[in-house]
Amino acid sequence: MTVTYSEWKERAAALAPETRMYIDGRFVEAASGARFETINPANGAVIAEVARGGPEDVDRAVAAARKAFRSGVWSRMEPQGRMAVMRRFADLIEENAEQFALLDTLDMGKPITDMMEIDIPGSLSAFRFFGEAIDKIEGAVTATNADALHYILRQPLGVCGIVVPWNYPLMMAAWKLAPALSCGNSVVLKPAEQSPLSALLLARLFSEAGGPDGVFNVITGYGEEAGKPLALHMDVDKIGFTGSGEVGKLMMIYAGQSNMKRVTTECGGKSPQIVLADCEDLEKAATYGVAGIFGNQGEVCSAGSRLLVERSVYDDYVALFTEAAKTMHQPGDPLDPATTMGPLVTPEQQSRVLGYIETGKAEGATLAFGGGVPAALNSGCYVEPTLFTEVTNRMTIAQEEIFGPVASIIPVDDLDHAIEVANDTIYGLAASVWTSNVKRAHRFARDIEAGIVWVNAYEAGDATTPWGGFKQSGNGRDKCLEAITQYTQTKSVWVELG
Ligand code: NAD
Repeated sequence: MTVTYSEWKERAAALAPETRMYIDGRFVEAASGARFETINPANGAVIAEVARGGPEDVDRAVAAARKAFRSGVWSRMEPQGRMAVMRRFADLIEENAEQFALLDTLDMGKPITDMMEIDIPGSLSAFRFFGEAIDKIEGAVTATNADALHYILRQPLGVCGIVVPWNYPLMMAAWKLAPALSCGNSVVLKPAEQSPLSALLLARLFSEAGGPDGVFNVITGYGEEAGKPLALHMDVDKIGFTGSGEVGKLMMIYAGQSNMKRVTTECGGKSPQIVLADCEDLEKAATYGVAGIFGNQGEVCSAGSRLLVERSVYDDYVALFTEAAKTMHQPGDPLDPATTMGPLVTPEQQSRVLGYIETGKAEGATLAFGGGVPAALNSGCYVEPTLFTEVTNRMTIAQEEIFGPVASIIPVDDLDHAIEVANDTIYGLAASVWTSNVKRAHRFARDIEAGIVWVNAYEAGDATTPWGGFKQSGNGRDKCLEAITQYTQTKSVWVELG
């Protein structure tokens, strides 16, 4: 049964979330006793005060994770047993879907309908996919001489630190937790300070599902205070990071400054959506174009923020895009199930995005619509869906990740020109092409510098599709079986038979 707007509001008013960290199977305060506020960006209200973790708490969590790992209670649990826990964990997340939806929507402002239709299913499919993969992880026996047996074991890494952003709090945690736990590792999760609440519910449910104490720990707190000591920790074997390129680079530095722990990064993007004149359905391309940049308020790593449109269909595309934007994504209260665009995550993010809009105007792009704060919603961190036309790829708004609802349309001559412009960026996360020409589609797929490519689609995928970037969009691959290689390591065992 669908929950109504007034029911969501009633539940939000009655919300009493867990606010303590989770270490070694128990909810605990920070050693310092400190707390920080988490704020609802739709209205500025304080949702809760959450334990503010620091280095001492990180030490406690890592020690618990190491103890659990060494004990073998999870890392050497028989595969069927671990699978049963992961199945129960996923079922409990599904049973608590509405609670997760409420927590993330209040914390970071995304529409509650997006939580129910995108984030929750996307998280569940990751847990179920990797949970089912547990007894399919195999080693190998290699061809050696007759007097020896050589086999390769695939084993968990040990203690994995997982550091995630606020734009999909539950789903980004899920994409890393699911392979890390399924492979037998212990985990210390550090959610973003803007959206710490859903991670704490996850921890409780893991325990209810039969997950042993110490295997899954959560440290809430700020990046510098909690994330940094985790990434610098001498007893952490891996950091799985999703977030900005700036912090992704720091993670690699921290690894070099400490114990050479493995680091995988999933960072930002400036993803192009290319529309060629031979596209079969320009209206569909415009509709996907709008969803690709304005969905989740544009706070998406793979946001299709650069629309590269062939000149002969440029005017028609701009008109269709403008028409579609009016109906598809307009800001409103994210608790209203009819809302398709919420506020941005914080006042700082709102000013950052408005700053980029000013830069776009100053550098000579044409502001086609939007550009301001919606008058009726000025108590929250809202920004209107915004379109710039006649953008050139050298402009700041075409080069930097805005991470808000700001689209730039750039005219291009043909496919070759489009690929040249598309690749002229430090990023390489996602890209799409709209064309009915098979050769052009495959040439685009071959030549584009991006980890995720869509032909006549945008944001399509499931648990089997690798998620990760080229260039400065990062080196990791979430989802897909390849993620298993990122949370395990091989051991070569040579047995002399002669
Ligand atoms: P961020 O880099 O500021 O923060 C990410 C996480 O790192 C947070 O938990 C934060 O507390 C922590 N952190 C910050 N400074 C740290 C430090 N010095 N040491 C250790 N940890 C630190 O990113 P954000 O603003 O939360 O998220 C937005 C960014 O995430 C965007 O660039 C977006 O593109 C990217 N992102 C990428 C993907 C992907 O799959 N490629 C997915 C979602 C978001």
